[in-house]
Amino acid sequence: MAVLHNRVSQKELKQHLLQEKESRITISFYRYYSITDPIVFRDELYTALNVLDVFGRIYIASEGINAQVSVPQSKFDPLKEYLFSIDFLKNVRLNIAIDDDGRSFWVLKIKVRDKIVADGITDPDFNMNKKGHYVDADLFNELTNDPDTIVVDMRNHYEYEVGHFEQAIEVPSDTFREQLPMAAEMLKNAKEKKIIMYCTGGIRCEKASAYMLHRGFQNVFHLVGGIIHYVNQVEEKGLENKFKGKNFVFDNRLGERITEEIIAKCHQCGKPSDTHVNCANEGCHLLFIQCNDCAKKWGGCCSEACYAIVQLPTEQQKELRKGTDKGQNIFNKSRKRMRPGLNE
Ligand SMILES: [Zn+2]
Ligand SMILES: [Zn+2]
Repeated sequence: MAVLHNRVSQKELKQHLLQEKESRITISFYRYYSITDPIVFRDELYTALNVLDVFGRIYIASEGINAQVSVPQSKFDPLKEYLFSIDFLKNVRLNIAIDDDGRSFWVLKIKVRDKIVADGITDPDFNMNKKGHYVDADLFNELTNDPDTIVVDMRNHYEYEVGHFEQAIEVPSDTFREQLPMAAEMLKNAKEKKIIMYCTGGIRCEKASAYMLHRGFQNVFHLVGGIIHYVNQVEEKGLENKFKGKNFVFDNRLGERITEEIIAKCHQCGKPSDTHVNCANEGCHLLFIQCNDCAKKWGGCCSEACYAIVQLPTEQQKELRKGTDKGQNIFNKSRKRMRPGLNE
């Protein structure tokens, strides 16, 4: 039996990573597939990836696999070979992160979960075997030339806010699980129309397309590889780009500019801006849109109250943070959910 857990401390592991001379490639991939025994598969995968010095975070469920990993450059090909040798991962799309130093992970964690994407679906008849048609950038552009085609953004509202496809509709909810029934409800009179779902990398819209079929929609499509792959294809093939603004990403950049158009507004003064920041008050950390002028005026804070707090000595700030409800304050992404009275 192989050792499936690291016995070394986090600190030591991080140290090992920093001492590595070889650079790493960060890749992500996912695939929906009925895995009969996720635990057995997890153990096999762990043993094989460990040999290849793979770090990262992988989720396995009976519906498939979702992985974000890094691998030393010299072991990229062997990793690819290994993954492709697994029946259901043959030719899986490996998305390579571009602006990444490969230092995001220093340990390999493979977790078995109920779902690879939490969806809140309880109906036992739902499964991922019947999903919508894939569309690539070419076909996406062609289908959306028809004004009757409905394009649905399956990301969070703060992602939609700074960038989306022309004519895309937003499903205004904070979570994917709420979005699914909401999308079906919003489109209930369009069951025969062509509906294209999209998200950042494809994993959410693929599930959404299966859900819409499950709910009786007839012509459901989803954008293969999401916005990321679409933008790459548009550049490679010189196609028309129908995505406007910024593509929100979950790393420090908080967004990749796709076109020069600024489609959002500063949450504080209303001027055009699509720069997401986290409030400089660590006890708040609210994600919101702030223009340069407001950033200067408020020292990167979301409100007068937070601005007052960051003026205090660090010790006092720490004292203030004690006992605050972090669930409410941290990663409170929506303006609507900004605490009342502080942002107006
Ligand atoms: Zn502003
Ligand atoms: Zn704040």
